[in-house]
Amino acid sequence: MIIVPEKEIAALVGRADSFAAVEGVFASMSSGSAYNFPVIREAIGHADALYGFKSGFDRAGLDLGLKSGGYWPGNAAKGLTNHQSTVFLFDADTGKCKAVVGGNLLTALRTAAAAAVSVAHLARPDASVLGIIGAGHQATFQLRAVAEQRNFTKIVAWNRTPEKLASLANVAKEIGLPFESVSLDALGAQSDVIITIVSSQSAILKNADVRPGTHIACMGTDTKGKQEVEAALVARASVFTDEVAQSISIGECQHAINDGTLLQSDIHELGHVINKTHPGRTSKDEVTLFDGTGVGLQDLAVASAAVKLAIKNGVAQEIEF
Ligand code: NAD
Repeated sequence: MIIVPEKEIAALVGRADSFAAVEGVFASMSSGSAYNFPVIREAIGHADALYGFKSGFDRAGLDLGLKSGGYWPGNAAKGLTNHQSTVFLFDADTGKCKAVVGGNLLTALRTAAAAAVSVAHLARPDASVLGIIGAGHQATFQLRAVAEQRNFTKIVAWNRTPEKLASLANVAKEIGLPFESVSLDALGAQSDVIITIVSSQSAILKNADVRPGTHIACMGTDTKGKQEVEAALVARASVFTDEVAQSISIGECQHAINDGTLLQSDIHELGHVINKTHPGRTSKDEVTLFDGTGVGLQDLAVASAAVKLAIKNGVAQEIEF
């Protein structure tokens, strides 16, 4: 069995590896060769922790396994990350455990890669201003990954606590793009691509603030009750997602589905656009929206890439198991 410790991931798995893994597995899901198993999520009644599993099987890449993990709110005080995750991969022919891979950084990389894949396939080719809503742990990963997808000339951003935007401003400086902290309506008025990556229970971005032709990737809503944008914006947009079942139950689409302004049949898998079985954006004025709910297969895909890279670079730890 191979072990790839968390501390090795940063040097092994880059944004391009993550993009390729996530794009590939979205394509496999839509061609019917990969599927996610039902998600388990439990409040365990200890340490205020939420714990669960996301799992699945990709017959094309023979990736079988699960991501185990969750949220321990007291961890920061212990010098640890509140979100903790580990990926387990199994041999699809024998069921033997094949690898254990640190999943914390991989989660941020695969989430940012999903937004980046949506921008690559759905944003207008001439998109030039990138708007980011949110400045938490995931936000800088989102900025780095999405900024590579178009010739952006400016980054604008909003966060509930604007002083936290310093982390995004630093990344913008590093990648050589001007950065501005703006109001939400100013963000909507300028942006060609908008990433929302907040943990909110009510809509932050208003339909009226978004101009025609914008691509929006809603990446923060991954639980029943969370919401980042007005349901009317979802109803107005051409909607794409990683997995329809998650989109309507725990994703951004749950609200427009619940109020009857969006039908399940209006939501398309991004994988179909990748596979060219759906045309994706068909006009420059169309608003496109990607509901990135986060699926287990994304975790397996990036973990599998990490194992291959660890073996290639001689840092995989092998043990008899
Ligand atoms: P974080 O705790 O580090 O940051 C939270 C962010 O949300 C901050 O920008 C904060 O200002 C903002 N926020 C919180 N409450 C808000 C409110 N009521 N109104 C406006 N803004 C508010 O979290 P993170 O790790 O950056 O994750 C952000 C979100 O992304 C979370 O909801 C998380 O569950 C989700 N997430 C989704 C995926 C996926 O695959 N889709 C993967 C990882 C994380």
